[in-house]
Order: sequence, then structure tokens, then C-alpha cells
Amino acid sequence: MHMEKCKWFNGADSPVFFMIDDLANTWVDVNHNGVPDLEEDWGYCKNGEASSFRYLNEHILRHFPQVKVTFFVPVGARAGMSDHPVCRQISLPINADEESKAFFQGVHQHPSYELAYHGTTHGRTGPTPEDFIQEWELFGSPEEAMKRIGEGVSVYADAVGERPRGGKYCGYAGNAFSDESIERAGFTWWCRYWNRGAGDPAMSRISGGDPDPLTNYDIKRFGESGVIDIPSTVDGGLLNGIYRPDASLKGMAKRLLKTSFSRWKLRELDYLLENRLVIGIQEHISPARDDGKRQSPNIFDDCGSLQAIFRYLDGKNVWYCTGSELADYVNLRDHVQVVTYPDEESVFTLEHESRYGNGILSLKLDQPHPASILLPDGTTVRAADGIANLPLMKGEYFIREGETR
Ligand SMILES: [Zn+2]
Repeated sequence: MHMEKCKWFNGADSPVFFMIDDLANTWVDVNHNGVPDLEEDWGYCKNGEASSFRYLNEHILRHFPQVKVTFFVPVGARAGMSDHPVCRQISLPINADEESKAFFQGVHQHPSYELAYHGTTHGRTGPTPEDFIQEWELFGSPEEAMKRIGEGVSVYADAVGERPRGGKYCGYAGNAFSDESIERAGFTWWCRYWNRGAGDPAMSRISGGDPDPLTNYDIKRFGESGVIDIPSTVDGGLLNGIYRPDASLKGMAKRLLKTSFSRWKLRELDYLLENRLVIGIQEHISPARDDGKRQSPNIFDDCGSLQAIFRYLDGKNVWYCTGSELADYVNLRDHVQVVTYPDEESVFTLEHESRYGNGILSLKLDQPHPASILLPDGTTVRAADGIANLPLMKGEYFIREGETR
């Protein structure tokens, strides 16, 4: 029998990786009234009444419980936008006090969320917002970068209770030392580029410059150990202008397909699905900036667009995952060998190094009949539509044909 490893978990066409940047212990007093109001919070308000975290949950995630979120956290006191802010920003490290630690740890421990690393201050301000230098652009050597990462990781670990497994360059910007610092610091995965911008000269500094969408929108690796690079391929505001955030979800799918404008926009998602590429959706937790400008994209302005994106993906064969779940599957897929025997059609083994020993590998069985698979430990896994999700074990797996349960 022919069988092959699925590109993504459960035989999905695409993984859906929802990134929200800059969750931090910060708020910006945009209207100068001395209290954090809706849209002004970056995480400082935790799950409070006017918090962005609550807004995200009540206005977006509540409708789509299958969606997972990876938050990218600047762990220290986040820098403002310039040396001359027009409003006050309050910013503390995420481990500033017990309440803050409990909030950030609680988010990370929730099965639908992951906190990833996003620098300490995010960078350094200059005379104008255009002079802002992003954190990984500041380092003059890998050692300097690693020293700062070490400090940041300690803050993260103090709050969250474990080390971060992945992260993202602030502003998607790095320099000649950045990639080496990420690998040597021991990260499993990273987001290096705003891949959607490849081909646009204005974006060349942060796009990675890969002109071929079939590789640009797929997983890459860098460094000797093969750190996994997850692409950012969709702007969360993709469907803005088509939906109002308060529009009912029920009529949405129908209206979605009505206009040629939305159809044209949806081709971005269709292209990723058809080519089995990563749907990496980019957002920010708050629009508030201390230079008075609006941070874009953000979950408030893009609420309706995000609802429309998730509604559209609802009927598709996708896998909702965090960054670490995605990286772990890709490592399994790339490092586990399926070994079959010519004289025993229904037996195979999954050869792997012990460091990949706790994962689940999805196999596609090329046969028309329902089947189940007897695992080395005596338990059984059913193959639904020819896809079997198999825990890695030492020993022989037996395929039993014709069983439906
Ligand atoms: Zn950021």
C-alpha cells in the first residue's frame, strides 16, 4: 500500500497561523484623560473592561473558537515611537508585579494561545518616528544580540514559567548578525519577514526578497540546525471595506461572495489554499501610538475583516495552530521516516530520533476503503478519509482494512 506523510497536520490544505504583535505591559493615553480607554491598551489592562485582550475575545475569537493565536510580546518596557511623543505611554516589563506575571502566564497556558518572543524594548527612538531603529538592527555582533536576548528571555521566563520557543523580529527588521543570534539562542522557530511585501521595492528591507510565491509563502529554514522560518502572508485587514464589524455573522458568508471586489481579495486566500501554503495572518493588539498616529493593521480597525476571513476559512480544510505547534509538526514531517516492507503490505514503522518522540504525524493512505491502524502499544487509530494521525512510537504499526470504527 502506498502511504505518504501529510504536508500539514490532519491532511490540511493550509495551516492558519494568527499572529498578534505587541501584546505588552503597556498603554498609551491617546486622549490625555489619565485612564486607559478602549483601543489604548496593549496588554497593561490584562482582561479588564476596556482591555484589548477582552475586545479580541468578545468581538472576534468568541465566534471562532477553533482559531488559535500566537501573541508576540516585547517583554521589557516598550519604547515609544519617537523622542517627542504627543501623548503619554506607560510601559512596564511583563514581570513587573505578580498580577502582570499571572496575566501573561495565564494567556500562555491557555490551549488556544502562545506567547512568543518579540524583543525587550522593540527598539530605540529617534528625533522622528521615521528614525526609530528596530531592536535587531541595533546589535553590532551576534554576542551583543544574544546578551540582550538572554536578558529578555529571563524576563519572559520569570513571568511565564518557561522559555519562549519562537518569536519575530521587531518590525520584521534585522541585520547581518540577527539570524545567527536566533539560532544560537536556541529558538525552534522564528518569523523573519513580512513575506506579503516581496516584489514591492518599498518593502524590500523586510520582505526577504523571494520572488517565487511558492517558496516565499511556505516554511523555510535557516542556520545550521534548521531553525524554522514561518512566513507572514496575509494582512488582517485584507477584507476591510467589505464588512462592518457589527454586521451579523450569519449573512456574512452570502454577502462575501456577492461582490467582485471581495472575490478578488479572496483570491489571496484561495491561492494559499490551492498551493498548500501558510496562511500567516498579521495583526497588532492596539492602534494606539504615542506619536498620535494609528498603528496598522490592528484588531479594532480589522475586526470585520478578521471575522470575514475566519468565516471564509470555516468551510475549508485548514489547520488552526500556534507557532510552536506548526514548527513541531514540520520537524516531525521532515525528520521521521516511514519504513514499509515489500513482503508485508500492511506493516510499517516510523523511524525517528528520540527528540521527536512525542509528536503526532499525519499519514495519507492511498486506498479507497476505510481503515484503522493498530499502534505498537495496542491501541487503534481510525483513518478518516484516508488520513491517520499517528502518535510516534517504537515498533510496528498494522493497517487493518475495511473497518469503519
Ligand atoms: Zn512589533
